[in-house]
Amino acid sequence: MSKNKHKKQLRQMKKGSVASGVIMFLFVNAAVILGLIVFVRIVVGYAVDSKLAAEHLAIEYMADIYENGKDDSVYDILDLSGRSYTIRDKSGKVIHESGNITCKDEVKRINFQFTDKSIKVVGDEKLDYFYPEEGGSLGFNVAKFIKDIYREEQAVGEDELFEFSDDVGKAGYQSEILSITVSSESDAVSLNLPLWMEIDVKDGSEMFIAKARIKADMTDIWLLAFTGLMLLLIIFFSLLLILIMLITNIIRSKRIEKSFYEDPATGGHNWAWFEINGEKLLSKGKNAKNEYAVVNIDVLKYRNYCVCHSLQEGERLLRKIDNYIKNSIEKKEMVAHCTPSNFVLLLNYKGKENLDIRLRSMISGLEMLDGEHSFSFHVGVDVLGVVRDANGRILRRKDINLETEYNNAVTARVTLSESEGSGIAYFDDKLIEEQKWIDKVNERAETAIEKEEFVVYYQPKYDPRTDTLKGAEALIRWDSPEMGFVPPGRFIPIFEKNGFITEIDHYMLTHVARDQKKWMDEGKAIVPVSVNVSRAHFIENDLAEQIRDIVDTAGAPRDKIEIELTESAFFDDKKALVGTIVKLKKYGFSVSMDDFGSGYSSLNSLKDMPLDVLKLDAEFFRGDMADSRGEIVVSETIKLAKSLNMKTVAEGVEEKEQVEFLAEQGCDLIQGYYYAKPMPGAEYEQKMGSMKTAENGGQAAENGGQHEENDGQAVGDGE
Ligand code: C2E
Ligand code: MG
Ligand code: MG
Repeated sequence: MSKNKHKKQLRQMKKGSVASGVIMFLFVNAAVILGLIVFVRIVVGYAVDSKLAAEHLAIEYMADIYENGKDDSVYDILDLSGRSYTIRDKSGKVIHESGNITCKDEVKRINFQFTDKSIKVVGDEKLDYFYPEEGGSLGFNVAKFIKDIYREEQAVGEDELFEFSDDVGKAGYQSEILSITVSSESDAVSLNLPLWMEIDVKDGSEMFIAKARIKADMTDIWLLAFTGLMLLLIIFFSLLLILIMLITNIIRSKRIEKSFYEDPATGGHNWAWFEINGEKLLSKGKNAKNEYAVVNIDVLKYRNYCVCHSLQEGERLLRKIDNYIKNSIEKKEMVAHCTPSNFVLLLNYKGKENLDIRLRSMISGLEMLDGEHSFSFHVGVDVLGVVRDANGRILRRKDINLETEYNNAVTARVTLSESEGSGIAYFDDKLIEEQKWIDKVNERAETAIEKEEFVVYYQPKYDPRTDTLKGAEALIRWDSPEMGFVPPGRFIPIFEKNGFITEIDHYMLTHVARDQKKWMDEGKAIVPVSVNVSRAHFIENDLAEQIRDIVDTAGAPRDKIEIELTESAFFDDKKALVGTIVKLKKYGFSVSMDDFGSGYSSLNSLKDMPLDVLKLDAEFFRGDMADSRGEIVVSETIKLAKSLNMKTVAEGVEEKEQVEFLAEQGCDLIQGYYYAKPMPGAEYEQKMGSMKTAENGGQAAENGGQHEENDGQAVGDGE
């Protein structure tokens, strides 16, 4: 999966938790703010309303006194109340007035919000802006009015608004507009507002207008304090709730991130973590001057291990490997598990030698991880050098793509051969070409079979004592219109990896059997031809039957077909292999072991395999055959084969001395350039026709001096 997909997925997973956290956060905040507004409105509104209602009652009471007063002494009684008032007739003419009168004549009717009362108010001559529209509420205008007046006149902060002083004059509140008086006995505070209330008296023929005054005592102050405390508590708990929610969300988001980046098998990190964090690290400006290596480590035969033990044991092994690597790397280096047998590492690169030492010591540690089993590891490395511009200036790695680098490391790793155990391979441009070639070969394989682009070449085998043709090996060539003439070394290993080799071997066997049948029908004295059968076939239980059927269908004699098994074929499933060999022999085929002596020692295999022929690998004859040790090994191997009733064929023999030596040692046949290179069927046919074979009871018509000519004619096989 690509990095962007990973990032998107993680974002989506986290979105749920973060979004719900943010929504809750906004919701709680809005609820708190709304609650506060409503709460304050209700408390303040109610307090102001009830004070004004009480004040209205008091003024009504005074209006009553005036209405029921029999003589002028009623004014004395009213004056005792200490408030300003005026009594006017319908036309506005003043009948009586007391105190500092500043009221106007206009009248408004204003509702209380929390009582069903409404009052008639008269504007103040000096200040009237705080009156609400007719029918509106008074509470907030009063509060606002107090604040504004206080700020304007005193130029002080809001906090001091309710810090009343006994000494009214000193506090500077005494004015015609607003006055606050404190009675020390009752602890009551009274506030004169520029608000005049009007009450109709004497059946509406007169108006009693008096200045309203708000009084607050200790109960009001306690109420205020209680309200304030409640508000603080609400705010405190709301904030606590928000904090808890935020912490919960952060923990949840961390957990999501952890599980997203966690590898289920090792419990360590996975590819997504590696890719996202690795790219972050590499693209940092401060890391631009450092070189890095992306390393791919593959545990060889991991699947086999799981099959033999269990998946749990396999995962236990992976955990051990992950931990081991983690302990071997430095602080800013990374490791993650990506596919069942693969790990990826990001290491600091301080030169090839340094990295080689580190990796080799890591591999040695890993090989010994499990006391009972020794594992092998293939390591692929892709080095990330410093990026520079045209002027040689170091640039940040902005567009780094770790997936590509990892693929490069894998491409390097897969070039290592499994038979060679642990190893390290570095990625280079040659490998890109190689990869392109593999793709090309894979793409064209099917069509090549259909169009019969694969050609059978025959390499004769000679008896070195008589120089007579005694057999041949069928070797494939690919005559491709697009790619030219391709030798098997360029495509057989690719087909062995992807399994297409089974098709190839069927193809070859079919064509060889048909050729043998044709030559036989033409009266030629045919000799046994060996056909290579790759080990990939040995998972098929009916391999012997398949071979028998192919040969029988073509009509070729079974004893003229030999089956060559490559040495690595002896490794996989010995029991199945022995079964197939026994069946093949029962059906009349002879079976040979190819490349004996190369790679793994297969001496042990000889013990159990009832083989007919041992083909000595060409490696025996490379270099200096005069070396007595080499000669001893070859002659002893021939002896060993003889005592096991096996014939010997020496491959890759090029020198006359070698032929003579092998003849002396009793080697049965020689297949090598000394006699002939692999050649097309038609050429081989001619060679066969011109030879008297052993079966014809004659000697070779062409030998010795003819060898060089043969070599010359075999040109075109790509070697
Ligand atoms: P092999 O089966 O061991 O075949 C012998 C290889 O040694 C052939 O290479 C042959 O050309 C080469 N050879 C023989 N004598 C000499 C010599 O004197 N000097 C040198 N330098 N080389 C010599 P070739 O044809 O390139 O085949 C390479 C390998 O490809 C074969 O090794 C075999 O493993 C595989 N191969 C070829 N054809 C087939 C096939 O039809 N099926 C399968 N499964 N593998 C095939
Ligand atoms: Mg062979
Ligand atoms: Mg061979």
